[in-house]
Amino acid sequence: MEITESGHDSERNSQLFAEAQDCFPGGVNSPVRSFSSVGGTPLFAAGGSGPLLRAADGHDYIDLCCSWGALPLGHADRRVQTALARQIPLGFSYGMPTEGENQLARRLQQVLSGVEQLRFVSSGTEACMSALRVARAFTGRDKILKFEGCYHGHADYLLAESGSGVGELGPGSGKSHTSHTSDGPHSRPGTSGIPPSLADLCLTRPYNDLAAAERLLEQDRNRIAAVIVEPVAANMGLVLPDEGFLAGLRRACDRNGSLLIFDEVITGLRQPGLSGPTDAATYFGIEPDLSCFGKAIGGGLPLAAYGGKREIMAQLVPSPGGHCYQAGTLSGNPLATAAGLATINALFEDWPAAYAQWQDFIAALEPLLRKYGATQANCGSLLSIYPEASHAPRNFAEAQTLAKRERQGPQPFSKLFHGMLQRDIYLSPSPYEALFLSTAHSADTLDFVLRQLDDYFRRS
Ligand SMILES: *Cc1c(COP(=O)(O)O)cnc(C)c1O
Repeated sequence: MEITESGHDSERNSQLFAEAQDCFPGGVNSPVRSFSSVGGTPLFAAGGSGPLLRAADGHDYIDLCCSWGALPLGHADRRVQTALARQIPLGFSYGMPTEGENQLARRLQQVLSGVEQLRFVSSGTEACMSALRVARAFTGRDKILKFEGCYHGHADYLLAESGSGVGELGPGSGKSHTSHTSDGPHSRPGTSGIPPSLADLCLTRPYNDLAAAERLLEQDRNRIAAVIVEPVAANMGLVLPDEGFLAGLRRACDRNGSLLIFDEVITGLRQPGLSGPTDAATYFGIEPDLSCFGKAIGGGLPLAAYGGKREIMAQLVPSPGGHCYQAGTLSGNPLATAAGLATINALFEDWPAAYAQWQDFIAALEPLLRKYGATQANCGSLLSIYPEASHAPRNFAEAQTLAKRERQGPQPFSKLFHGMLQRDIYLSPSPYEALFLSTAHSADTLDFVLRQLDDYFRRS
């Protein structure tokens, strides 16, 4: 990686990173935090307030990553602090049912599409893994179809990739990313440590290629338990579904008796609904059989959920007649559910004004980027900026073509990332990751971002 200077590569961050490299493999507890795809020393976080992130060296940045989407209200929101402060003296965990779980479930059922019953878990990985287990239990089938460039957590069989190409990890992301090189039925592990027999259970096809998915479902009829998809893909940059893609998957699943699972770990509570945020299922008007949620629903605490049709969720032990096991010591943790409920309620208060501001921001951003040969994609509070690109990618192959320039070539994203860091703006540190707007990003904050982007592109 050519770029090593971040402009704020302070001694304090470097000291902390040196220590972390002794404590943790690669110095981090999740790969994409390491800056390995943009170069330089990762910032260490020491605090945050609203749209601002404070680094360990005391420097403040406007945060457009917001904990990868877990902070839809920005940092340290007062209303969430109040809810947490109320719970703290009452205890941190019981391993017993609580009223707080019921309250959050009721609220989610109002806001999200088709969640007749749900289970709380502690991470998006668990939510996807568990939804797929229930789908297999319900259908009695083994195989899964996923789409290239979609991320559904790091369960073994979900880190599969298609074709016979040499496995290649997304730069620093720890996510499995390899181009589709074969139309054959075989998948391979996307990382070491996964038996090929597990990867074989997960078939992959290109995102937005409905015909390829339909062919596979016909061909492997009676064997595909579920099709899992990010309804708006947000782990290869932001890639919107083509008109008809999601509806086509719904029909193809119905024809072949496969379940349709929307992985809304990112999109949940980030799509515009009637009076507040909702999920992509509601926004696009497509009803999946099961959905997975995470990130935003815990407002920054470890909380995720999966749910959907009652008859499918009834497979879970100990429902009467249930025979599918899933559990969790900290599932529905009282601090996490308190934060989740406060986050949703606060989001509804903030949403109308915030959504209007984001739309104004996008309306100004689009022509600004065009002027400099860049482009963007956006949906709700999600955004990607594509420097030196004439159009946003439609699938993983196109996203990869853009991202490859970071390792071999002009490094347009890394340069943008560091250019913005020098201008006190923190973008998600990988070309594969989306940017996240929060309701704390005021019109003034977003104006500052626009001016800094203009300054960066004008000088570069
Ligand atoms: C982040 C993410 C996951 C995994 O969630 P974790 O909480 O990191 O385990 C799953 N699906 C999607 C779409 C995600 O973005």
